[in-house]
Amino acid sequence: MRACWIAVCWLGICTAGCTTTRIVGLPTRDTLVRDQLVIYSDFNLPRHHRLVEELVARLQDVSNRLRLPVSYEPIHVYLFESADRYQKFLTSRYPDFTNRRAFFVETDTRLTVFAYWGDRVAEDLRHELTHGYLHTMVPHLPLWVDEGLAEFFEVPRGRNGLNRPHRDLLLEENSHGTWHPNMVQLEQLSSAGDMTQLDYAESWAWMHFMLETTPARRDLLQNHLARLRMTGKAPPLSSELQRLEPRVEQRLLEHLNHLARP
Ligand SMILES: [Zn+2]
Repeated sequence: MRACWIAVCWLGICTAGCTTTRIVGLPTRDTLVRDQLVIYSDFNLPRHHRLVEELVARLQDVSNRLRLPVSYEPIHVYLFESADRYQKFLTSRYPDFTNRRAFFVETDTRLTVFAYWGDRVAEDLRHELTHGYLHTMVPHLPLWVDEGLAEFFEVPRGRNGLNRPHRDLLLEENSHGTWHPNMVQLEQLSSAGDMTQLDYAESWAWMHFMLETTPARRDLLQNHLARLRMTGKAPPLSSELQRLEPRVEQRLLEHLNHLARP
């Protein structure tokens, strides 16, 4: 089971009343404010840690790649020093989420990320903060697009969003006849809890296909997001993409195979 499946992002979860002062056991020892990020930790986080620098820079990456204007709404990040402390916090406050390595919560007034300083904290924070950045820019983002973009931007900078575990999984499943691209099926998903590992991987694949292949596909995605941002609604991406080019599922498979070439 891969990281994101564990680090499910429970968007829109009801946390009414969960203010900073009322959540028991939240990290409060150190606070670091960098642009819109407010990072609370229970250990001393170096002021210019390279991970923090990367997370701050990622906002501009997201904005530039998706052609969306930056919003500076604060995102609150609670960073635990150990998995043990994090698990104890989850057990007391979010008992249904205890198998998740990190997660993102959005309420009407606050964007919050919870994570711990483990081996995969960089990947987890890139993923969860992508959700945070996206939600400051575009309301009503379809779940699968939200997750696909988070999977794209969780990859370290300089790799052009290539998520190799996803690529390998999709090609293997396709070779066994157990997976075939189906964007319409992704568009039916309404709960992160219903998403399988393959759903996350395919969501990433479509986003990579649209952002990293042709200008026409990239423009289509950017225009789709712009429309969502301006009006809160847009036609399904599947219908827009089918209008742009036929047999798009086959084109996606060709793209994945191209990515697997040495
Ligand atoms: Zn996510």
